Amino acid sequence: MTNKVQIGKTDLVVNPVGMGTNKIGGHNLFPNLDEDAGREAVRFAINHGIDFIDTAYLYGKGRSEELIGEIVEETGKRSDLVIATKVSPVFTDDGMSNNNAPSYLKQEVENSLKRLKTDYIDLIYIHYPDEDTPKAEAVGALKELKDEGKIRAIGLSNFSMEQIKEANQDGYVDVYQGEYSLLNRSAEKELLPYAAESNLSFIQYFPLVAGLLTGKYNKDSQFNDMRGGLPYFQGEAFANNLEKVEQIRKIAYEKGTEVANVVLAWYLTRDAIDVIIPGVKNAEQVQSNLKTNDVSLTSNEIETIDRIFKR
Ligand code: NAP
Repeated sequence: MTNKVQIGKTDLVVNPVGMGTNKIGGHNLFPNLDEDAGREAVRFAINHGIDFIDTAYLYGKGRSEELIGEIVEETGKRSDLVIATKVSPVFTDDGMSNNNAPSYLKQEVENSLKRLKTDYIDLIYIHYPDEDTPKAEAVGALKELKDEGKIRAIGLSNFSMEQIKEANQDGYVDVYQGEYSLLNRSAEKELLPYAAESNLSFIQYFPLVAGLLTGKYNKDSQFNDMRGGLPYFQGEAFANNLEKVEQIRKIAYEKGTEVANVVLAWYLTRDAIDVIIPGVKNAEQVQSNLKTNDVSLTSNEIETIDRIFKR
């Protein structure tokens, strides 16, 4: 049995290993996604103890939510699950912008409810800040939805430190979602300490750096998708990253586990991190990431990993 954890100050209690779903229905972000593999990933996850699912309107302009809604209905396990989604993006012919106006956020939550085939959403994030709406007013709209029972917790994503403080002036924000990984530790400067002090749960995106921290790549790997454009995968930086991953591989080997599980288990030792949402696109990846729950790192291993990635 997995020990469940509470997400920050919310009443959401989940398996610490959740799932990210931008590759489940996120056709506008990633080419050639297989929807059946995505459906199977969600089905497998729900039937094997994952109860925290992270999605967003942005992922396929609602398609990810629709696929999740379909499988949640099929399994009949809605009440066992904690579903998080995100609103604010607006798509026009000119591309994507964001709107945090209270009326827009409320309308988008209604649309997400329909796609997810549910009458409440456990955690709603404002996906990105807009330029005009006072931050506390935007969060106030979500607080009203919480009071009405339509949502259970309030999150922000991609807000700067100053914007988070402004948005959280009434203490209504429960969760912050931002990029954090062993290869990008900038959140350690301000965001993670603020989250720990203010009892916000920090939920990281990009924890596996698009698969780089699973140990599945080597110096000959070729990238013809968005990975090819990311600095982590280029030239000397890529070679250095691979060398660090090899050091994790040794630790993983000694513990009888995989690189990804050591990396994910390390995140769960951080103060403000209660849960992880590695992105998945098929059931095999779900199964592999779930093994993180079997990994317990010693304080010596935690420090060693810290050191490997600080250099
Ligand atoms: P990630 O978790 O670092 O990488 C996920 C990718 O790694 C998967 O799509 C898969 O890609 C590969 N992978 C995962 N598990 C694996 C395993 N066990 N073995 C081998 N490969 C594996 O990055 P992310 O998915 O972008 O971030 C996590 C989640 O955060 C997302 O799914 C999404 O829900 C959320 N997110 C939020 C924001 C935001 O603005 N708030 C931004 C980005 C993401 P391949 O199979 O293609 O290699």
